[in-house]
Amino acid sequence: MNLSNLDEVMVGEQEYRLKQARELVLKSLIENWGEAIGLPLQLREKLNKECPLDIKGEIIQSESGKDALKAVITLDDGLKIESVLMKHGQDSADAEKRNTVCVSSQVGCTMGCAFCATGSMGFKRSLTKWEIIEQVIFFARLLKKENQRVSNVVFMGMGEPFLNYDNVIAAIRILNDKGSLNIGARKISISTCGVIEGIRNLAQENLQVNLAISLHAPEDELRSKLMPINIKYPLKEVLKEVDEYIRKTSRQVMFEYLLLKGINDSEEDAEKLAKLMKKPLYFVNLIVYNPTGKRGLEPSPSNNVKLFKNVLEKSGVEFSERYRFGRDIKAACGQLASKNSF
Ligand code: SAH
Ligand code: SF4
Repeated sequence: MNLSNLDEVMVGEQEYRLKQARELVLKSLIENWGEAIGLPLQLREKLNKECPLDIKGEIIQSESGKDALKAVITLDDGLKIESVLMKHGQDSADAEKRNTVCVSSQVGCTMGCAFCATGSMGFKRSLTKWEIIEQVIFFARLLKKENQRVSNVVFMGMGEPFLNYDNVIAAIRILNDKGSLNIGARKISISTCGVIEGIRNLAQENLQVNLAISLHAPEDELRSKLMPINIKYPLKEVLKEVDEYIRKTSRQVMFEYLLLKGINDSEEDAEKLAKLMKKPLYFVNLIVYNPTGKRGLEPSPSNNVKLFKNVLEKSGVEFSERYRFGRDIKAACGQLASKNSF
């Protein structure tokens, strides 16, 4: 799929045609310009040549259930990215069904976090806004066949969204548009390892999206070991920027905390975390480590998780535990790293 020169191809056409063409792709979800019978034949042929709509995606289905699907998408330059669809509440009433697409924002990542498969694969490039949107459209087309839609989008796939800030925000504005996929801003979440400029800029966007910060350690020494970005942006500065973000937006911020056996999952760690997190509009999301084959890293055993949660509960910190999707297809958080990406 290549929508990057759609605007250019439509130059010279009547003005409303561009809007019409965009809606056909992003709202009606046509898969070939041949379906666009409202457009003149010649234009359809030109569009098929210059703005092809086929998405080269391969689906890997979870064996443990139909709740997670991973797509390996080949981009126009041959690079591959991974995206995941998570289906929630499939057996419940329509109103409770949720379909969340976890999108990648870059091919690989420069951040090199110790626990993350994407971090180990190196970095190739950032995605364009259309390549971000393409991932959502891929799953939206599938869901349409089941009379369902994409309800939520999370930037928790490959890459650091705030190092591709402009394209991420541009993609969100399009996803959010009523003439497009119409995904509510409040249903869109950006997760960052703590890029301060990104947090600061997002506060100015006047967008009601959710912000999540990957914390993973309650003090600098350990955090710098797990996440080298902490050397540049230490905890105190990240939290200061988050406070400023909350002051400006009055929006809740989620802190992701990966539980790693014997590394950051002791009761003492929980106490330190509680001290940092006991603030209005702070919310902790505990994630048990999804194995990525890193030496020395193991998921916390359930007893450690229980003790850790007890401390948070007693301290009055708001928290939840993330449900693990698609571990068997390496589709869970931090496991995205296409073998064939490069
Ligand atoms: N780069 C961004 C977003 C992508 S990572 C960020 O770091 O926030 C999305 C989430 O998955 C982050 O919270 C990240 O820390 C977490 N993650 C990375 N590796 C993981 C693993 N092996 N198991 C569980 N979560 C992991
Ligand atoms: Fe990059 Fe996020 Fe993985 Fe860190 S956790 S390496 S920032 S994708």
